[in-house]
Amino acid sequence: MDEFALIDSIKQQTYKQPSIIKGVGDDAAIFRQSAQDIVTAVDTFVEDVHFTRSTMDPFHIGYRSLAANISDLAAMGADPAFYLVSIVIPQSWNENELNGLYQGMRDMGNAYNMDLIGGDTVSGKVLTLSITVIGYVPRDKARYRSMAKPGDIVFVTGTFGDSAAGLFMLNHPDEYTDEAYFYRKHRMPAIHADFVSELEFLPRLALNDISDGIANEANELAEASHVSLTIYEDKLPVSTHFHQFTEDQQFKWKLFGGEDFELMGTVPASGWEDVKQMAASTQTQVTDIGYVESSGNSDHGAFLIGRNQIKKRLEKKGYTHLKQVKKNE
Ligand code: ADP
Ligand code: MG
Repeated sequence: MDEFALIDSIKQQTYKQPSIIKGVGDDAAIFRQSAQDIVTAVDTFVEDVHFTRSTMDPFHIGYRSLAANISDLAAMGADPAFYLVSIVIPQSWNENELNGLYQGMRDMGNAYNMDLIGGDTVSGKVLTLSITVIGYVPRDKARYRSMAKPGDIVFVTGTFGDSAAGLFMLNHPDEYTDEAYFYRKHRMPAIHADFVSELEFLPRLALNDISDGIANEANELAEASHVSLTIYEDKLPVSTHFHQFTEDQQFKWKLFGGEDFELMGTVPASGWEDVKQMAASTQTQVTDIGYVESSGNSDHGAFLIGRNQIKKRLEKKGYTHLKQVKKNE
């Protein structure tokens, strides 16, 4: 399949977003927007660095890559609208596999009424997918990670460690309970952009998406907000069958595993009831896991109150830690 045939096959016949003026087919795409703030982000995924074909079908690779990008929009409080895909295609990927990849992105994008409005196609040595997403947020309503204040409640969506557990199961075939659930959480993570949109009326909310592990993101949030943020280990939500793994694995995966693409937020105590209500109305699980305190003028960061009730600094080792785990496997 040549480049033109590929572009033809992925080109949408119609667009869902009313602001679109020109989609795929010219030198660039155009949409018109004057009322809202525009939010944009890009992420790049390289075969055998960010994903492997031994644990994911092309469909999952596409689905999950776009999901990771939408998660960034959700963490800003934005409504997803468009995406562009720049792809490097090696000889080892055939037409069927490429179709699967785009089908995965299409399925994920359709869940949020997103339109594919452009991209670039080149050949190269390693399959590389670079996705740009664009979304809207009402003026001055973006949710920054710097917005946490002392007295806030810390909450998270979903459950933790499932994606890392799923990856482990895929790499270590054995007898497990509920494998399909963990595989799905790894390959097709749920994104909570709808929940975040419902929270638009709240005057203040700090948000961060958890791509590199909660330990890492909690520190980012605390540092950006110049506060100290404390989490109770016991309150971290995990799935029903997460307990089948060793204590060590559970601890490592739920705190440092990452890639669950859940959200972490902080909200004034007065807004917590609203958060719970909006979560219920969008079938989103939310859990109160800790609190924000003043850190004086220094020593911003995240802390963990362990099972033994001892409070310790939560080290920011998520990302590099998991990268090493993955490489050694
Ligand atoms: P140009 O040479 O002007 O950059 P291209 O041939 O690269 O044009 O692209 C033609 C059209 O197809 C453009 O609208 C571009 O955005 C779109 N396009 C190219 N590659 C992709 C892709 N991988 N995914 C989505 N759209 C693409
Ligand atoms: Mg081009």
